[in-house]
Amino acid sequence: MKWYQSDAGVQVVVCVLCCCRLAGYDVRFTLLNLLWLLDVDNMIVLVISFPGGGKTTYVQTYIDQGYHRVNRDELGGKLYDLPKVVEELHKKGTVNFVLDNTYVDIEARKSIIECAKKLKLPIKCVWLNTSFEDAQFNAVQRMVRKAGRLLDPTDFKTNKDPNLFPPVALFNYKEKFQKPTIAEGFDSVEVVEFVRKKDPKYKNKALFLDFDDNLRTVTQGDFPYPTKVSEVKILPGRKEKLDEYVKKGYRLLGASNQSGIAKGNLTVQDAVDCFEETNRQLGHNIEYFFCPHSVPPVSCYCRKPSVGIFVYFIERYFLDTEQCVFVGDQTSDKTAAARCKIKYYHPDEFFK
Ligand SMILES: [Zn+2]
Repeated sequence: MKWYQSDAGVQVVVCVLCCCRLAGYDVRFTLLNLLWLLDVDNMIVLVISFPGGGKTTYVQTYIDQGYHRVNRDELGGKLYDLPKVVEELHKKGTVNFVLDNTYVDIEARKSIIECAKKLKLPIKCVWLNTSFEDAQFNAVQRMVRKAGRLLDPTDFKTNKDPNLFPPVALFNYKEKFQKPTIAEGFDSVEVVEFVRKKDPKYKNKALFLDFDDNLRTVTQGDFPYPTKVSEVKILPGRKEKLDEYVKKGYRLLGASNQSGIAKGNLTVQDAVDCFEETNRQLGHNIEYFFCPHSVPPVSCYCRKPSVGIFVYFIERYFLDTEQCVFVGDQTSDKTAAARCKIKYYHPDEFFK
């Protein structure tokens, strides 16, 4: 409630003002305190989280209540310029502010806390305690929805949209992050846990499959993965198990790390030919997506355990992760499945 917008509020102010005068109190001081009591909404709210932590969605609840959003991505400039923007707006009568930037550490938050003290506005920090895994999932989901695909390392060099950022942004945030506390100057700190809402449109099921040492092995060659069609050899029992899942209505989707491409061990075309040969020998049409990038450092979202390939398919086919299954032999496969909350099997268990 804003006191000057409420007839009842103004009457109370006037009434207490008279009482104070009669009682001989310092009217200005009492009035100021009273306004603070009435103006419970007059404050600066800082919403902080990982990039992709859900700030944009969360902050809408404040905007709907009449808060003025001050966001660097929208305004441009630097984080340290925002207090000036708040001060200018405050001069013109704005009293409720919500700022949703990453505010990774105490230093990044210092100037806006000082600004709040100067303007005599309470400042609350809302920390969206979204995990790294959920933030990565959200970041890729937003990317696929906006761009229709996963951006790759070369795209990030020219991309101007701050909402589409490379994976390193999340790793940096995780490393630098300092938890917000009252001690640094906030009047209150609220912790909000992230909950992924289920969308009823996402109702389809899929069987995700790693390829190497899961569906196939090699007949010969210098590497533990095929680089030529003649090296592709299907492991036993695979075709039959896939038949079963197709009959149960599962879409077959492939997710494969092929860093041998970046190392120069095979070309993109060699990899495609080997996937096609795998499908031919299995008698199935697995829709495959592979990561050709190198590691380290992590430069893309498609290399497992990043969730890029999975989120891409989830968005494309409206998959319900609770009904999906992923089979892969590596720790990175298990981790990727956990990040997407997809049921995971090791091939020894799944194809036994
Ligand atoms: Zn990749």
